[in-house]
Amino acid sequence: MQPKRMPSPQYLIAHACFECRKSFKVAPRPDDSTVCPNCGSSLHQMGRSFKAPAARDKEQWAKVQALYNAGFRFFSYRSVDGPPLPARLSDVEAFIRDNPAHPLRVAVPNNSFKPKPLRGSA
Ligand SMILES: [Zn+2]
Repeated sequence: MQPKRMPSPQYLIAHACFECRKSFKVAPRPDDSTVCPNCGSSLHQMGRSFKAPAARDKEQWAKVQALYNAGFRFFSYRSVDGPPLPARLSDVEAFIRDNPAHPLRVAVPNNSFKPKPLRGSA
């Protein structure tokens, strides 16, 4: 085990915990193994332009999670060419269907959204 190095502030990226409905600015790790300091669940890297909804706003968090699961990440609109992300959870399904090649859709969709099994563990 190598000791953890303190990350430089400019490399902090918004990560979200869908359990707590909170976002944390943390340094991205290549193995995506960051965990929520609040509950210990996996944190999900959302992108530099992610703005966390209020924790009580379950609809907006569900929307964000649905977009995340579909492979969308949150980067500046100025750098991409495409329709803006939907404002409402009820619009997400149609948006995803209508924008299969949206420039913000950078990750492989994850429909199961289950924690990855740990390799080598019984
Ligand atoms: Zn959490």
